[in-house]
Amino acid sequence: MKKGLSVKLGLVLLLCFGMLLSACSSTKDGNGSATKGNVGNKEDAGATTTPQEQVKISFMGHGSPQEKDIFTKLIKSYETKYPNVKVEYTSVPPAEYNQKLSTLIASGKTPDVFYVSGPQFYKYAEAGTIQNLQPFLETTELFQEGNVWKQALDRYRYDGKQLGQGDLYGLPKDVGPWAMAYNKTMFEEAGVELPPAEVGKWTWDNWLDAAKKLTKDENGDGKIDIYGGANFNLDGAVWASGGDFIDYSTGTITIDTPEFTNAMQWVADLRLKHKVSPSPEDEKAMNSYSRFVAGKVGMFPMGPWDQPAFWDLPFEWDIAAWPVNPATGKAGTWVGSMGYSVSSKSKHAQEAFNLAAFLALDVEGQKQNYELGQAVPNLIDMAKGEFVSYDKAPANRQVFLDIIEDYGHPTVDFGSKDTKWLDTFRQEAGQVWDGKMTAAEWAKELQPKLQELYDKGNK
Ligand code: CA
Repeated sequence: MKKGLSVKLGLVLLLCFGMLLSACSSTKDGNGSATKGNVGNKEDAGATTTPQEQVKISFMGHGSPQEKDIFTKLIKSYETKYPNVKVEYTSVPPAEYNQKLSTLIASGKTPDVFYVSGPQFYKYAEAGTIQNLQPFLETTELFQEGNVWKQALDRYRYDGKQLGQGDLYGLPKDVGPWAMAYNKTMFEEAGVELPPAEVGKWTWDNWLDAAKKLTKDENGDGKIDIYGGANFNLDGAVWASGGDFIDYSTGTITIDTPEFTNAMQWVADLRLKHKVSPSPEDEKAMNSYSRFVAGKVGMFPMGPWDQPAFWDLPFEWDIAAWPVNPATGKAGTWVGSMGYSVSSKSKHAQEAFNLAAFLALDVEGQKQNYELGQAVPNLIDMAKGEFVSYDKAPANRQVFLDIIEDYGHPTVDFGSKDTKWLDTFRQEAGQVWDGKMTAAEWAKELQPKLQELYDKGNK
């Protein structure tokens, strides 16, 4: 999760966004799942093949070597549960995944089951590359719709025209609430009141006050050594302000609205004006993730997948609610998700579906997933039960669930088949982060360009 040391903050925000998606995807499920909770279900889901008939299916994902190890174990559990099925598993480096997948699809070698992100999901659902899972879901005992986060499931609905409604064409691999971590030890040593876990109890002003109190030049050389906060989530700030990047119902880019530009300026000013967040120069010397880990940043966003690394930190930490914009009383942040889809050309669709359902919904797999600190369970009863009371940091686990249920948003790319417009936004935003232009000037200038890019790739 550590970033290169020489990236500009604008890029860091971009990477950070990428990290949300890819790290969501780096969920590492547990192992040995079928052997405990779900033995003896070989006939479930109305398997179309007899136990004697040997079937081979392919599964492609991406992630770290660690993720690959965990999936290898999980697939063994699936094969134990369905002994007539053999899974050929391929894990490719995340940066190569999309290209590899589209090459396979183009050459008629689509994997039976594969990871899908938001933009790919839209593209492949529309093109008929992935199949409607609804008929399968109606026959599997693994799926109890009321016990899976709606916020995750709805990402994978498609009604033939629009996303977010209709039948399920994918199942969530995970649900990734982007929370705000804080260095509890630093707060206590500085005598600063701890950020509350409940949303609405503190505002952007309170956040800034705390950040100012924590920011320090320790050795008096005129250079700040400890920053109050870093990587305040722009997208969340925009949503908290009642703005958005785009109105997907009309396909209009809305970055030039006051709601948007005021939020962006507020985030930029944390560094430019208030100097409570690292500058691009600081980022070059040490990125914000490394700074937080080194105890040099007070508040820093994290996803559930960051837990294992944070469990090893030499200071106490927790997560807090995102502060609300005082003008609206609202908070905002991301809820990421990656999914599993089944090829519409699969010769063994039932077995392929069974694998996707097993990975997304199996009780034992989900349990191991959260115990390893990789994700919030997809299963609501588990998330609200044993997950919130799990005896490891963060203590305020409820914050993750509040984000999922109350104020988290799908990432901005969800709803775009082509994301060049958004990539361009992230690349160009350095103009504002560096203080070369105000958010309002910049957005006014950039909006037509983004609109053209969006129209070209999506209309
Ligand atoms: Ca200093």
